[in-house]
Amino acid sequence: MTEEIHEEYQVCYKHPDRKTLLRCNRCGKPICPECAVQTPTGYRCKDCIKSQQKVFDTAEKQDYIIGGLIAIVLGFLGAFIYQLIPFLPSYITALLISVLCGRLICTAVRAAVKKRRSSALTKVVTAAAGIGAVIGLWQNIIVNINILSWGATGFGFNSLLQVIIDIAYVVILCGTILAELNGMVFRR
Ligand SMILES: [Zn+2]
Ligand SMILES: [Zn+2]
Repeated sequence: MTEEIHEEYQVCYKHPDRKTLLRCNRCGKPICPECAVQTPTGYRCKDCIKSQQKVFDTAEKQDYIIGGLIAIVLGFLGAFIYQLIPFLPSYITALLISVLCGRLICTAVRAAVKKRRSSALTKVVTAAAGIGAVIGLWQNIIVNINILSWGATGFGFNSLLQVIIDIAYVVILCGTILAELNGMVFRR
C-alpha cells in the first residue's frame, strides 16, 4: 500500500506545475530535480538542507569577536616574522610561514571558541587574518611600490617580485585557513 503511494506522481512542493517521483528522504515532500539536493544519504529538499546547516552552525556572538581578534593578531605576527627570517629566499619563507601561520590561527581559534563553528565564523577569521597580514606587510609593500615608481634600474625587478610574493603570502594564508576551517563545517 505505502509502496504504491510512493510510486505515484506528485507535484513539486515549490513548483506545482512539475510532476515528480522524487521525494526528500528526510521530510518526504515531493521535489522536482531542480529542488533536489544530492547528499551522501540521498536526495533532500532545500528546506531540510537549510535546517541541517543551522544545526551545524554553533558559533555564538562572542566567537566572532574572539576569533577575529586572534586571527588579526596572529596574522600580523606571522607576517612580521616572515619578513624577519633572513637566511632563506623570501618565496620559500612566504610559503612556509603562510601555511604554518594559517594552521596556527585555525588551531588557536578552534581552542578559543571551544570548537564551535559556522560558515560565517570561517569568513570572519579568514578576513581578519588577511587584514592582519596586510597590516604586517604594509610598510614592506609600500617601500617596494615606491622603489618601483622611482624606476630605479636593478631594484625594479626585485621590488616587483617582492610585492608579488607578499600578495601571494596573504592569499596562501587565507586559503589555508579557509580550507582548514571549511573542512569542519557541514558541506552538502
Ligand atoms: Zn525535506
Ligand atoms: Zn521544484
